[in-house]
Amino acid sequence: MGKHIEDKLSAYLDDALTTDERIDVEEHMDSCAACSEAFREYVAVRELVRTAFHSVKAPERLEEAVMEAIRPIPAAKPSKRFFYGLAACLLSLLMLLAVLFAIMAPYTTTLITVGYRVTDNLLQAAGHYVSSLPSAFIGLLAGAILLLTGSGLTLKALLNHSPLKEGPS
Ligand SMILES: [Zn+2]
Repeated sequence: MGKHIEDKLSAYLDDALTTDERIDVEEHMDSCAACSEAFREYVAVRELVRTAFHSVKAPERLEEAVMEAIRPIPAAKPSKRFFYGLAACLLSLLMLLAVLFAIMAPYTTTLITVGYRVTDNLLQAAGHYVSSLPSAFIGLLAGAILLLTGSGLTLKALLNHSPLKEGPS
């Protein structure tokens, strides 16, 4: 029967033996129940390890998914909507200022000195003009407030804007 070959089983499985050694191992296992049993266990353990390793193999798209997840949010690429929102905001502020100015004009004129007579007249004219058109005046004020609110909400939404949920632009 010769000496047992358990110490050569690993090399045998790795196909790392010479042809003569291979033949010795195979012949020995044919006649030695202990060594052929040890060989079967060796194969079973290897299979188990291979299967276990295989079962925890990373998903094929793992690297891609990780890179996607840690991908930095594109550096504040200002969208058209952002500029429209900003423009609407500024426009509505200007409208509001114009409205406030028009409201104040008739009262401030009484405080303006003779040196500002020209300005006085202009402001008074503007005040009279605006107060002679109350509906247009109220419409302008309402429009300014609506626009300011709308653009404020738009800007707020844009600040919370997720790049994954691309809204209409
Ligand atoms: Zn043996």
